[in-house]
This record gives sequence, C-alpha cells and structure tokens, in this order.
Amino acid sequence: MQDCIFCRIVRKEVPAEIVYEDEQVMVFKDIQPAAPVHLLLIPKKHIPTFFDLTEDDVSLIGHVQLVAGRVARQLNLEEKGFRLVSNCKEDAGQLVFHIHYHLLGGRTLQWPPG
Ligand code: C5P
Repeated sequence: MQDCIFCRIVRKEVPAEIVYEDEQVMVFKDIQPAAPVHLLLIPKKHIPTFFDLTEDDVSLIGHVQLVAGRVARQLNLEEKGFRLVSNCKEDAGQLVFHIHYHLLGGRTLQWPPG
C-alpha cells in the first residue's frame, strides 16, 4: 500500500529503529513507548486487520509470533516475560491499519487493559 506508514517503514522510506527483519517480518521500536521494551512486530505484507486474513496468511502470522519469542529472548525477557497484544479496529484503538503486534515488557504490566 502506497500510503500506509508501516509499508513505508518496510520500504525504508520512513525511519524506524529496526531490531529484527527477515523476508516476511519486521520488528521495530514503537515511537511512543508504553513500557521499557515496546516493539511493533509486523508482517511485511499489507494486511489491514485480522478480518482480512486468509488461509494463505496462517504461516505468516505464525511466523510473526515465533519471531516475538525469539526477539524477546534476545532482549532478556525470558525470565519475567512479556505481553503480545494487537488492537483490531476502532473500539480496540487501532490507529494504523496494517496488522501489528505490540510486544511490551521490562516492567510489571497491569491486566486487564482499559
Ligand atoms: O495499535 P495501534 O494501531 O494503536 O498502534 C500503532 C502504534 O504505532 C502506536 O503505538 C504508535 O506509537 C506506533 N507508531 C510508530 N511509528 C510510526 C507510527 C506509529 O511506532 N511511524
């Protein structure tokens, strides 16, 4: 998608602090961190919301979650853990309509979120 901000980050047209990247996935630091560790994990493929996923995307989404654990381990979050959360559409607070997971850690997180 031409104007999608996350697609522009994937194309390196917009700067981001990238911490991991492979053919399918990119992980970068959230510009407004809500925790000591706050990363965004995105499929490079433009998929607006979970409602747009198809069977073809199953291994892609699985790969994003595999990468979440690997990156979290590299950031020494294995002992205390982390939260992986995704906002889907307006009521959940989705601002960027390119599927992304927030990986939050480095402090005790409250539950449930507001
Ligand atoms: O889940 P939601 O769509 O609300 O989250 C979008 C996230 O993308 C926000 O936390 C925002 O800070 C982040 N963002 C970013 N870099 C950008 C644009 C948005 O990290 N260039």
